[in-house]
Amino acid sequence: MNQNQTLFDRALAVLPGGVNSPVRAFRAVGGTPLVLKEAKGATVCDVNGRSYLDFVGSWGPLILGHAHPEVVEAIAKAAACGTTYGAPCEDEILLAEHVIAAYPGIDQIRCVSSGTEAVMSAIRLARGATGRDGIVKFSGCYHGHSDSLLVKAGSGLATFGVPSSSGIPESTTRPTRVLELDDSEALCQLLRKEGDDIAAVIIEPMPANNGLLLQRKEFLQTLRDETLKAGVLLIFDEVISGFRIARGGAAQRYNITPDLVTFGKVIGGGLPVGAFAGPAEVMAHLAPLGSVYQAGTLSGNPLAMASGLATLRALDREDGWSQLEELGAYLDSTLGQILAASASPARLVREGSVFWMSLQEGQPPRSAEGIQAGAAERYKALFHGLLEEGICVAPSAYEVGFLSLAHSRNDIDRLAAAVEQHLPS
Ligand code: PMP
Repeated sequence: MNQNQTLFDRALAVLPGGVNSPVRAFRAVGGTPLVLKEAKGATVCDVNGRSYLDFVGSWGPLILGHAHPEVVEAIAKAAACGTTYGAPCEDEILLAEHVIAAYPGIDQIRCVSSGTEAVMSAIRLARGATGRDGIVKFSGCYHGHSDSLLVKAGSGLATFGVPSSSGIPESTTRPTRVLELDDSEALCQLLRKEGDDIAAVIIEPMPANNGLLLQRKEFLQTLRDETLKAGVLLIFDEVISGFRIARGGAAQRYNITPDLVTFGKVIGGGLPVGAFAGPAEVMAHLAPLGSVYQAGTLSGNPLAMASGLATLRALDREDGWSQLEELGAYLDSTLGQILAASASPARLVREGSVFWMSLQEGQPPRSAEGIQAGAAERYKALFHGLLEEGICVAPSAYEVGFLSLAHSRNDIDRLAAAVEQHLPS
């Protein structure tokens, strides 16, 4: 009996699209999503009892792998002491101290329960601190689903925000300007002309939500220099890259310090955590110190803090980032070689433990506008070929893959061999 299908059919009746988050629905690749019942290390298991080698990693949080014993123990221990207090707890202070010591230029942090919440609150803080309404984002960067950031990319020098979801008043997105990544000139022009109206520029310094659009350091440096000149806050959205590509995230990787930073994913070790952080003088605008209101019943939740702390401590102890870089280099020399040598257009794009199989002609794109339509159909075939081999990659051509400390070279060999076999010509 196909228990997976039976359960997903029931899901379709009670959850819109059968899911609680759209990309899980396999709409981009077709077929029935796996309904999972357990996971351990680099393996996930569906309700039919079939195991898969997993490169989705719950979309980024699981840098140690699924159900890491230290994380599970920390959560269990915390749960036995109470699941939520609605009052300060020790682990939230320890987590704050840990993150502040790891990331440049921040004195204080506020924890929330998702990346969306972190970014939404950081934007409110930037507006409150500067007294300006304008926000600049880059097309191809995803910053969660809060209203003012859910804006369609436009072409041209700069576009005024048009909501990319229904249900968002245009008045909400009007102050959001969209620029293209890697376009320093447009950025300089906009900041010089309209800087006085702009509270913040937000960017994923390692854009990983539209393929992996690795940026030139020079572009990020221009962004830093020009925002400083214009008195505009620079927000690095490090929800994916924070504690993932280096202990100090993309700020460390590129040696560029933003004014505000948002975290999520890895800092929660698989439990719902987001956070935003900055210098004391900016954070002082937040309630209860200042007039920017922000709150959460489950913020700094003791289970989530314990899970995040256990993850960050294990990463430090194991020097996780150099191990992941070694694994990543091995991915380059196996999967990367296979893609580069393929008769059909394909290339591996990688930064640390984050990778993307770009199935398009030419050099990997640096902006969303450089993404060619057409790769999605070929990815679909590859995705299902890999699934047949018992390997899970993201169910979309434009989502990245994640390595964890639970992956071995053998796992990477398996992925590379399966891609070689199933990559459509
Ligand atoms: N920012 C970035 C860069 C993200 O990748 C994501 C989620 N993938 C978010 C914000 C939103 O985080 P969440 O899904 O936890 O709300």
